[in-house]
Amino acid sequence: MSTVRSTCPYCGVGCGVLLAPGDSGRLTVTGDPDHPANTGRLCSKGSALADTLGTEGRLLAPRVDGHETGWDSALDLVAARFAETVATHGPDSVAFYASGQMLTEDYYVANKLMKGFLGTANIDTNSRLCMASTVAGHRRAFGTDTVPGTYEDLDAADLVVLVGSNLAWCHPILHQRVLAAKAARGTKVVVVDPRRTATCDGADLHLQLAIGSDVALFNGLLAAIYEGGAVDKAFVANVDGFDDTLTAARCARLDPTGLDRDLVDRFYRIWIGTERVVTVFSQGVNQSGSGTDKVNAILNCHIATGRIGRAGMGPFSVTGQPNAMGGREVGGLANMLACHLEIENPAHRAAVADFWNAPRLATTPGLKAVEMFRAVAEGRIKALWIMHTNPAATLPEADAVRDAIAACDFTVVSDITAATDTARLADVLLPAAAWAEKDGTVTNSDRTISRQRAALQPPGQARPDWWHVTEVARRMGYGRSFDFAGPAEIFREHAALSGIAGGFGRDFDISGLADLSDGDYERLAPTRWPVARRRGGRFFADGQSFHPGGRIRMVPVHWRAPEAKHGPRFPFRLNTGRVRDHWHTMTRTGRSARLSAHLAEPFVEIHPEDAKELGVAADTLVELTTPTGRAILRATITDAVQQGTLFAPMHWTGETAPSGRVDALVAGVTDPVSGQPESKASVCAARPFAAA
Ligand code: SF4
Repeated sequence: MSTVRSTCPYCGVGCGVLLAPGDSGRLTVTGDPDHPANTGRLCSKGSALADTLGTEGRLLAPRVDGHETGWDSALDLVAARFAETVATHGPDSVAFYASGQMLTEDYYVANKLMKGFLGTANIDTNSRLCMASTVAGHRRAFGTDTVPGTYEDLDAADLVVLVGSNLAWCHPILHQRVLAAKAARGTKVVVVDPRRTATCDGADLHLQLAIGSDVALFNGLLAAIYEGGAVDKAFVANVDGFDDTLTAARCARLDPTGLDRDLVDRFYRIWIGTERVVTVFSQGVNQSGSGTDKVNAILNCHIATGRIGRAGMGPFSVTGQPNAMGGREVGGLANMLACHLEIENPAHRAAVADFWNAPRLATTPGLKAVEMFRAVAEGRIKALWIMHTNPAATLPEADAVRDAIAACDFTVVSDITAATDTARLADVLLPAAAWAEKDGTVTNSDRTISRQRAALQPPGQARPDWWHVTEVARRMGYGRSFDFAGPAEIFREHAALSGIAGGFGRDFDISGLADLSDGDYERLAPTRWPVARRRGGRFFADGQSFHPGGRIRMVPVHWRAPEAKHGPRFPFRLNTGRVRDHWHTMTRTGRSARLSAHLAEPFVEIHPEDAKELGVAADTLVELTTPTGRAILRATITDAVQQGTLFAPMHWTGETAPSGRVDALVAGVTDPVSGQPESKASVCAARPFAAA
């Protein structure tokens, strides 16, 4: 076997990797020096990828009701049960829950089957938990879900502001790029985060604001931009909503940030006085009941100053998952059609139905993730297909979600293992090819499409996800529309459809790739979209958006407190997040001893004053309770968290730490625009754990 170029399957940085046979017969994984995202570097997770390969613990054959069976009988059953459910209860009685781990080609066919052929938009994704607020914020400002920033902007910026982003742990290679720019050209780094994280080490400023107060901070910045005469009047002349947005920003009567005024003024002076500023934001912004408003509060400041779409400047959301962006492109969200076309637009629907030759294209948005599992609990969803994700452990109110899946009439899970909280509940388990065994594409945070390539044969009867979907579609009678020989053919269809989207003035246009031969696809180098036959280059520097009329919009936003209210029963706010060396529910990283050694068990960070008051000693067990669940975690006493707040990581599950299922604690409160859950401000009680 010669060296294979592929892409890391963890975070949205999308680093290139080289897979090569090692001396011991197992693969070695090194950074790809030619990939523009990482130029050869890998973080701890990426460099341990080889440890996570192998067949131990893999699902090797289809299972029905816990018994191994052949592919034909399993697929026949899935097709029959989905067809029967649609026929009996209507299209909206079935649902598909997808994942940012899926490759674009897998996502494309799943979305096509659900929206085009089963006639329901009940396909949503765990990316709803990751960046849905950014999607909604982009659409409000630009008319489309367009990321204005690029990684090169981080290299060229004089100021990088990291909002709700522990970049050092969650996007380590991007953090290295920021630190390299700081060393080379003195780039200033400001962190805006309620928690002191590893990203604060080496930052010039840390604004440790109150949980959920970001809108107030950025509204204040917009007011300061205006009062300091820093508005780019020529740019704003072509922007809608400036006056109303400024009025909203200036009318705030109280400051909920809890920050020292001098510190805030210093931040505002640096931001206003630095033209090349990139504001990076991530889950601390997105995972909020006011996440969309937070996104627009940030975008408003860049639009008002015209600092967008030019070298070294712009708002820049970084995605959590390796293919969260690809899922957005194919329309893997319940409220979107493929290629950034809109489900509520009759012309868009007609074009997609025509292109797919789809008999019953969905006409209304489907259920977003939290709503979807509530519908499962209420018995409205009767057949559910879950692909490469573990909602029984990771959705808010995880205990209720677990119970809902267990009670669902028919649940299919496609995964690489049977040992997840969700897979254990499946009626049908379909064995999937894992990373390094499958082919396709992913799109990273700066819109760069990269190939994932196979270097290993899938073990046992494992098959790629696109094959699972197309085989079920074929058995449901849609074979002609799903007759794909492989991912290259699916990619060409996706690219051709994007050309139609481009014709509607949509941003996502990769029609320049629609004629790739199989060989071209195999050799495809990392390529940033658009790759269009129409508009190309950078977005928004020309003041043009994708709204009708082409004007960018500023959106008036007002700060509001997190929805779940404090009270004497639940006096703390619980913030959740990731650790450096684990990914999601550890189905891969948990296989690496060196990754697991970093932080070996679930924990909760407690401020020293709170620990004293509660009588909690370091490293003892603490019982956390919220209105939705309970967990027992080991105490880490640290002033990295503010008094009255707690932080706990989300990686451990019923499989790895039955008492440490942190998402059981998180309430299913969602942003009213994006539907993204509030994962960082649940009300919570804490006390020393006393074993019965
Ligand atoms: Fe993988 Fe992200 Fe690390 Fe890059 S930064 S090696 S994509 S986990």
